[in-house]
This record gives sequence, C-alpha cells and structure tokens, in this order.
Amino acid sequence: MTNIGTPLAPHFAGRLIQPDDAGYDAARQIWNGHIQRYPALIARCSGVADVIAAVRFCREHDLPASVRGGAHAVAGHAVRDGGVVIDLSPMTGTRVDPLARTIQLEGGCTNAHLDRESQAFGLAATGGIVSHTGIGGLTLGGGLGHLMRKFGLAIDALRSCDVVTADGEFAVASAHDNPELFWGLRGGGGNFGIVTSFTFDLQPLGPTVLAGMLAWPMNDAVRVLRCLREFIVTAPDEVGVMANLRLAPPLPVVPESLWGKPIVALVATYAGSAREGHKALAPLRELPAPALDTVQPKPYVAHQKMFDPLYPHGRHYYWKSHKLGPLSDEIIDVVVDHAARVTSPLSAVPIFSLGGAMARVPEDATAFPYRDASHDINIVASWLPSEAGDADRHIEWVREFFRALEPYSRGVYVNFTSDDASDRVQTAYSESQWARLTALKSTYDPSNFFRMNANIPPSPVTR
Ligand SMILES: Cc1cc2nc3c(=O)[nH]c(=O)nc-3n(C[C@H](O)[C@H](O)[C@H](O)COP(=O)(O)OP(=O)(O)OC[C@H]3O[C@@H](n4cnc5c(N)ncnc54)[C@H](O)[C@@H]3O)c2cc1C
Repeated sequence: MTNIGTPLAPHFAGRLIQPDDAGYDAARQIWNGHIQRYPALIARCSGVADVIAAVRFCREHDLPASVRGGAHAVAGHAVRDGGVVIDLSPMTGTRVDPLARTIQLEGGCTNAHLDRESQAFGLAATGGIVSHTGIGGLTLGGGLGHLMRKFGLAIDALRSCDVVTADGEFAVASAHDNPELFWGLRGGGGNFGIVTSFTFDLQPLGPTVLAGMLAWPMNDAVRVLRCLREFIVTAPDEVGVMANLRLAPPLPVVPESLWGKPIVALVATYAGSAREGHKALAPLRELPAPALDTVQPKPYVAHQKMFDPLYPHGRHYYWKSHKLGPLSDEIIDVVVDHAARVTSPLSAVPIFSLGGAMARVPEDATAFPYRDASHDINIVASWLPSEAGDADRHIEWVREFFRALEPYSRGVYVNFTSDDASDRVQTAYSESQWARLTALKSTYDPSNFFRMNANIPPSPVTR
C-alpha cells in the first residue's frame, strides 16, 4: 500500500493513521454506526500548526478532505471514503477566564468540556443536550440546548473564533475581525474554515438547577402537547422545556412498569432559583398526575448527561427535522399518529421549545434562520447494529413522518439532517441568508474544499 501520508509526516506533530495501521478501524468510526467509510488517511491534529499543515497538504496533493470534530453529524460528514480526515479530536484544551466570564475551547471539545470547565466557576453557556456531542459542529450550525431560551443559542454567546481557511491561512473571526466570516460561522456550518478555537461568553448558573422529566402514557399525548403549546407562550425565559415521544427506555430512573410502553415526556430545566422554578413549572402540574416525575434540584452537569445513555456511540441512527410554528391541533395529531407507529424501541421524537432570548436576536445578526419558529422537532430512528438488514424500515418511518409534517414546516435545522443534497440545505436558510452565505463561500472557499458538510456551494459565477 502506498504511504499517502509520507509528505505530510515531517510537518505534522500528531498521529497519522493509514488503513494498514493498528487502530485504523477504531479511528475511522464515528458516532453513527450506520455510516461505515474508509478514508485513506486520518490526521489526528495536536494543534493549530497540524491543522494548517493538513489543509496545505490536501491542497497541494489535490486530496479530498473531511473535518472531524465530535463526529456526531448523523450524515457522517466527519469521514469520507478515500479522503483525508482532518481529525480535531485530540484538541481539547480549555481555558476559563472567570473575570471576563469567557471560555476558550479548542475545536475538538465536546459539550462535556464546556459544562465541566465552566461549572467549576459557577458559569455556563448553552450547549447541546448530550454531553459527548462536539462543540464544533453543534456551534457552527447554531446550537440548541436546555438553556437557549435564557442565554440564546450557542452561537449567540460566541465571541470569537480562530480559523484555518481553505488555503491553509490563519484568521481570527469576531465582531471586529473579519466580521462577515464571523457572521457566516454562526449558522453556516463548517463551510468556511476549520475553527481551531471557540471563545464563548459565560453566564452565572447553578451549580444546581431545578430540572428533570415528567412523563405520561401516550394516551395523554394530545393533552400534554396542547398544554405545552399554551404554557410556552407565557413561560419565563428561564424555562427550558422539551417534549419527547418514545417507548419508555429501561433505565433505572424509569419505573419497570413503564418500560417499553409508549410515553410522552416533558424535560424541564429552570435556569434560576428552584423556588421560582417550582412556580414557573406549576401549570405543567395541572395536567393529570404523571407516571414519572424526576423534576428536582440537581447538578447542571448531571442534567446535561441525562440523555447520554440513550444515544450511545456505534448504534445505527437516521434523523430529519422541521422547525415548526405553534403546535396546532393538526400538527399534534400528525405527531402523535406517527409517533405511535414507531418501528424501534430505541427511536424517539424530541421536540425542542424555542423562543425567549434566542428569538429576540435579529434574524440578520447571524446565519441561523427562522428564529421566530416555536419548536424544532427531530424525528430520530435508532436501531441495533445486529438489525442492520432492517434499516430501510426505520428510515422509512422517519421519512414518512417528515413528509407528513412538511406542510407545517418553517425550514429545517442543518444540524438535524441526514440527507445533505444542497437543495435541501438551501431550505434551511432564508433567501437573503443563502445569497450572503454563497457569496461568503466564494470569498473564503471558491473551490469548495470544505464540502463534507451541509454544503453551501460558492455563488454561481456572474459574467
Ligand atoms: C446524540 C446527539 C445529540 C445532539 N444534540 C444536539 C443538541 O442538543 N442541540 C443541537 O443543536 N444539536 C444537537 N445535535 C446535532 C449536532 O449539533 C450535530 O450532529 C453536529 O454536527 C455535531 O457536531 P460534531 O462536531 O460532533 O460532529 P462532526 O461530525 O465532527 O462535524 C459535523 C460538521 O461540522 C464540521 N465541524 C466540526 N467541528 C468543526 C470545527 N471545529 N471547525 C470547522 N468545522 C467543524 C464538520 O466538518 C462537519 O461538517 C446532536 C447530535 C447527536 C448525535
């Protein structure tokens, strides 16, 4: 086998892994076991110099590249057959400045790094709801989480980025430096460069929050979702709430009598005092008594790991999402009907409630579209590797569910897509955002070097 990495080796301090090397098979795996790809080289970067060297090497040798952050993109953007994986996973350095209330995170960090390090100082920023998700992809697509109604999306707290561009140059992007690039990085995904370091503003929170889950049998789903629709309109920003429809998982926190039964759950987080939180969540307690109620003061870091056991690495996944307006009776009927036809006990339908601080950021301030949507529904199919032959059945459940909601769609969220045709990516953005993003792509990446992503092509050449 030719040693494709030989010209890179003298310029590279991290580890280069090729198909014949020990550890190659583990190194090419991403979170979604349904994606099995075979890159020619995995370049595990130890720092910015390695990232620059890897980009220049790919450009000089005309090699296709992918960028790996937390490797959680369900479509498998982190890895491509025959390509070079520019792997940021060893780059997990962090630094909190408690006086300035900021955190700097290297490009390979996960939510777990953000939460652990900032909570050591009683501080927090919006991150995702599963701790092993990468900060890189999550932030660049927008970043929804339990705290977004209080603190905005992950991108709303972003202060600056260190970026390696498609020609292997280094740039800083912030409100003052390369502001158009900074605009595009906040929602435009990994299209414009490799972010080697993110700096976020932090806010005081915790270390304890009132949080947990209320769950009812699926028979109550219509009532619970109608209640959520009314509740969220007047709920204070401190309230984060996410509905979840699925078969109850066999977790210690779930009573055994519920395991495998269809349930509707509301996962609540209160970013304020527990006393105020109990008051704010009271309307949810006017629903019939839940079969499960775990809402209590708990460490924020533990709450952020609550879903980890339900989304393990290596299982097979496929998903699609819509942003939605208020949950009309018609939408609720479609959701409940399709959730009841779920094909796997591992699948789930989380529905994030948007609004609050994230909705007050002007639409043109970032590349994150449709901030006035009320909810984001993610239709998640998951099945065991041993059921690989059954994948079509689970994927078709997602697609049918997705199609049934299309008439109510307010666009898609790029981070919750599995199919990445560029016409689909375009529907994630408003017309003016798309024009601005494609122009930015022409400036920073005219040859579309960064194309293993929810791809934004360079704007068509005008003569
Ligand atoms: C279990 C799970 C839970 C999730 N929960 C949430 C949630 O709560 N909120 C939410 O908003 N999203 C959530 N997501 C979606 C998540 O935001 C996307 O899957 C995202 O792409 C993950 O980023 P990553 O770095 O882990 O993935 P990767 O597959 O490594 O990267 C995804 C894309 O981003 C690019 N990229 C990654 N890092 C960088 C970087 N440093 N610089 C430039 N480009 C980069 C990659 O090239 C690729 O195109 C979740 C996903 C999973 C699998």
